[in-house]
Amino acid sequence: MSASSRYFRIQSANPSSLHVPGVTVEIVISPGIPRHTVVGLPQGAVRESLDRIRAALVSAGYTFPRGAITVNLAPADTRKDGSAFDLPIALGILAADAQISTRLLRSRAWLIMGELTLDARVQPVEGVMPAILDANKQHLNSVILPRGNLPEATAFPGLHVGAVRHLREAVEILEGTVDPITIGVASEIPPLSEAPDFSTVIGQDNCVRTLALAAAGGHNMLLSGPPGCGKTLMVRCMEGILPSWSRSLALEATCLHSLRKPGTALLERRPFRRPHHSVSAAGLLGGGTPLRPGEVSLAHGGVLFLDELPEFHPGALEGLREPLEEGKVTLSRAHGVEEFPSDFQLIAAMNPCPCGYAGSPDRRCSCTDRRRKLYRARISGPLLDRIDMHVPVMRVDPLRHLDRSPIPSSDWAVRVETTRHRLGTAPPVLEKEEEETLIKTVASLGVSMRTVAGIRRLARTVAAFEQADRVQRDHLAEAIRVGGQSRREGAG
Ligand SMILES: [Zn+2]
Repeated sequence: MSASSRYFRIQSANPSSLHVPGVTVEIVISPGIPRHTVVGLPQGAVRESLDRIRAALVSAGYTFPRGAITVNLAPADTRKDGSAFDLPIALGILAADAQISTRLLRSRAWLIMGELTLDARVQPVEGVMPAILDANKQHLNSVILPRGNLPEATAFPGLHVGAVRHLREAVEILEGTVDPITIGVASEIPPLSEAPDFSTVIGQDNCVRTLALAAAGGHNMLLSGPPGCGKTLMVRCMEGILPSWSRSLALEATCLHSLRKPGTALLERRPFRRPHHSVSAAGLLGGGTPLRPGEVSLAHGGVLFLDELPEFHPGALEGLREPLEEGKVTLSRAHGVEEFPSDFQLIAAMNPCPCGYAGSPDRRCSCTDRRRKLYRARISGPLLDRIDMHVPVMRVDPLRHLDRSPIPSSDWAVRVETTRHRLGTAPPVLEKEEEETLIKTVASLGVSMRTVAGIRRLARTVAAFEQADRVQRDHLAEAIRVGGQSRREGAG
């Protein structure tokens, strides 16, 4: 670098990536022919950033320096997407050009992200949470962010945050004329869930118990029943009884949401996602440019509810196999692959046939055998195999159950929590006698080894739900009843 070149560097982050977000923005201003270059695999919006920045600097009353400006985004081998580099590049140019004081910029490490409009306003960007999480691990605890991204920063007590709406506000923080805010410790009490309450569900005691078992053990589940039997309502109630989760899982899950929606505060409860069956494969599994997580990843740590399962796009349903098996989804992009965590619990619901009344005691099914088979075949065997619980739901006459008062969600939630705790610390034992019963019974059902493993898991959950130290005969019987139906159902 020649003596008359001016140089400055600022820490930023790549909002398009969950795993390697740290990016160093380096600015060199050299005398000579005006030439503006961004290097380091800039994509779309990043390549155009200098045009936006020039307009923003002038609008805010600064000078866009003469000469050749080179912006290097390091490391050079990862693609840089999105507009989050606008603010660090603009501040880097002002610093290299000595238009602002650099004392604070040099004396502590800052993470800076934000998009600039032509009139120098700072707009929220995606991916702020993974960036702060990564910076935090490197003990970098001062950040400048768009005001709209402040909710993401509130998950990090002790973090110093300049949450700015305009380029000038960012300069004021860096020059020390305005102090950044320091994030306090958040309350530990999660807000009440807005899910409907199980006390509103009349006459479906069995199904409700099964949903509570599923919540406690994290089992995948398929409910099948005629329209109007209350499947959807019951599954929505389940959202209110999901077990608590750890801060590290909450952070991991919120990072995925932050990549999709700027300004997402730390998720206080497990997510409950309910995409419509018209969702595209990319919408469900992730995709697009820049790459964004899909519903399977937004459900990470929580529930993915697919209502009307056979109506989903076949490619989307097939794509569920990888996340169901491995708890992650691999997406190919122009430059290699990206993995997003997607360890969710699948809850699916469907009608038993296209008209909805197959097996119904009160109405006749109007479908042909062939139509029924085709409908069932839309859900592949391998997908059914990954569903531990298969629950038929019947229509009930609420008038016949008026004398019963259903158990409220708050009671189920306590039971789910203690069951989950027991499964994690002292899971019930399956002794030899019960294991033999299991093998004998499933041999007669002709189910796969995967199904057997599912029944075994389920039996432990039932036992823990009943606060038993070992799996007893009736626990096993319930598990076989709920878990042993997949192949028979799938065969239609
Ligand atoms: Zn039918």
